[in-house]
Amino acid sequence: MAAKILDGKATAQSLRQEQAQRVAALQARGITPGLAVVLVGENPASQTYVRNKERACQAVGIYSEVHRLPQSTSQQELLGLIAGLNADPKIHGVLVQLPLPEKLDEEQVILAIRPDKDVDGFHPENAGKLLLGQEAFIPCTPRGILVLLERAGIPVAGREVVVVGRSNIVGKPAGLLLLAQNATVSVCHSRTANLAEHTRRADILVVAVGKPGFITADMVRPGAVVVDVGINRVGDRLVGDVDFEGVSQVAGWITPVPGGVGPMTISMLLENTLEAAERLASA
Ligand code: NDP
Repeated sequence: MAAKILDGKATAQSLRQEQAQRVAALQARGITPGLAVVLVGENPASQTYVRNKERACQAVGIYSEVHRLPQSTSQQELLGLIAGLNADPKIHGVLVQLPLPEKLDEEQVILAIRPDKDVDGFHPENAGKLLLGQEAFIPCTPRGILVLLERAGIPVAGREVVVVGRSNIVGKPAGLLLLAQNATVSVCHSRTANLAEHTRRADILVVAVGKPGFITADMVRPGAVVVDVGINRVGDRLVGDVDFEGVSQVAGWITPVPGGVGPMTISMLLENTLEAAERLASA
């Protein structure tokens, strides 16, 4: 294998120590940062993500509460809970785990979260601020990618970045964030013609498609940095969107799945919650 591993698990672990110190500093001022997570329904992947978030909070001393609601929850009940959390002084961050059951209106739910508690960064106010380059909560996965690159000493400015995927939670904000760091960014999607011509140009290739093994070695420029956001269950294994075996022979750096972007996403949720509490403390 030629590629070096971009180790999200180790990076998140080292960030955890800094985060625990920030929690202690807040506690010395009488503030315990608090995160509320709302989970509706029985989606097994969501249940795992929520458990991991809860554990990560505990590990650094952030207070967390998980509201597990049945699949049958109505829009009004969910909005009522969010209104309560918006007003609760022990809660600094509110997160509604997506996807929601189909009958619920996701857009309206995101809109109901107070923007200064929106630690997922999905509220239109935060999305708009990211677009305008103003201070905002940055969605956790794109922020995690940026911090992972930074901590590995991989420069972004002036480099050719290709993002495959344009979702509101990963692809689009990742593109904007890397653009703000002075990368030259292309964002590809399912209607992109000649995808491999784009991906082969990339110094840094970010893949968030949701298809196992979608990016193969022939689509990657030798020495490129490959960031695999995908999490796909194949049998009893979790695999990314990148064919790790093949691509790691060609790339200069690569994130593993699991252990790459996933732990960084959770780490940035803690970071955003800490920032929310720190902002409130200095308000
Ligand atoms: P979405 O399904 O919302 O978006 C997928 C994107 O991939 C779309 O923009 C789609 O294009 C594009 N796409 C689909 N097929 C192709 C194709 N053949 N060629 C080029 N582009 C294509 O997914 P998400 O962004 O929410 O998630 C992507 C992956 O990342 C999933 O595996 C998810 O589980 C994982 N994930 C991991 C996280 C982590 O912490 N590591 C966090 C969030 C997600 P179009 O817009 O044209 O349809």
